Amino acid sequence: MTIPMTDLTEQYRALKLEIDEAVHRVLSNGTFILGDEVKSFETAVAAYTGVAHAVGVASGTDALLLALLACGIGEGDEVITTPFSFIATSESIARTGATPVFVDIEPDTLNIDCQAIAAAITPRTKGIVPVHLYGQPCDMKTLMSLAKAHNLRVVEDCAQAQGATWHEQQVGSFGDCGCFSFFPSKMLGAYGDGGLVTTNNADIAERLRVLRNHGAKTKYYHDTNGFNSRLDSLQAAVLRVKLQHLPEWIDKRRAIAAQYAEAFDRMDGVDVLGLRPGADHVFNYYTVRIEGAAARRDSLSAHLKDHGIATAIYYPKPLHAQEVYAALSHGMKDFPNAALASQQVLSLPIYPEMTLDQVAQVTDAVASFKGFKYIGE
Ligand SMILES: *Cc1c(COP(=O)(O)O)cnc(C)c1O
Repeated sequence: MTIPMTDLTEQYRALKLEIDEAVHRVLSNGTFILGDEVKSFETAVAAYTGVAHAVGVASGTDALLLALLACGIGEGDEVITTPFSFIATSESIARTGATPVFVDIEPDTLNIDCQAIAAAITPRTKGIVPVHLYGQPCDMKTLMSLAKAHNLRVVEDCAQAQGATWHEQQVGSFGDCGCFSFFPSKMLGAYGDGGLVTTNNADIAERLRVLRNHGAKTKYYHDTNGFNSRLDSLQAAVLRVKLQHLPEWIDKRRAIAAQYAEAFDRMDGVDVLGLRPGADHVFNYYTVRIEGAAARRDSLSAHLKDHGIATAIYYPKPLHAQEVYAALSHGMKDFPNAALASQQVLSLPIYPEMTLDQVAQVTDAVASFKGFKYIGE
């Protein structure tokens, strides 16, 4: 039996009746762009997240871009973010015309080091984009008090962290905007692309609704340059079904993560990432560090593949070292924690339908890699 990184067909089998009903409802009522399905889903996400407004858009990347624009970020501004994330984080900053300014990550959680942000603030700094990496919230207390003191906008990248909380408060409810992705492998996966922005600010919500729909408040009357970036009704209907299952899925992911951590804590050579007190991780991805050089991590990955176990590397090259940012003239050494993490991280299969037997199959396969046996065996 092979074990994939995630198994969406298994999830569909479990929810088939509910999802088929939702899809047929949309097919029968004939509204496919925005409409009541999207409104109902937005209302449900806003309630779940504990915010006043939610605006569905075409992807997580668009959520970030539209949120930054709605916050007034653009040409000449600097926006602070992590060098250790998916490209969409810095790409959306650059797309507004602003410059991404990277701040290194914490070596244990791999989230942006909020204590180090202050030193990167300049007179041009306009905002911060923290990423709740793998599903663990950043230190939002430190980050929000810095942002307040310097009058900076905060756009949270919650693409991997829907449902995660920092001291009981949902991610996406701290900053000016929270950005979510419904890419199929995320916490809440659509059957295609989708995204959403949360906010407590009515003006920002209004700007987002205008931006996603060609800059028009009233159809065919355009106030600003906008986008075609809307959430499909079909996706919204499916996502509203799935949102009801999110809390139980998070519990299952946490149980799997706990079993992984229990096994890896007893294994030399595999380091479990740190958990911040107060941060309730949702484990969109389960990532460990493999001590040593990248070659060792890569040969473990090949060993697991031989055992029918999929793995992934999020991410093999930090953002500051990407060709696209050559003009920023960063060297690998500028952000040593991000550089080392990119050599050592390995993400293992995790999804709510994964059985604890399958988790044991993964940990046993890791233990059978040269030098990794359980301590004491
Ligand atoms: C997936 C992801 C995005 C982008 O989401 P899409 O829906 O794929 O556009 C942005 N940031 C992070 C951290 C992500 O993991």
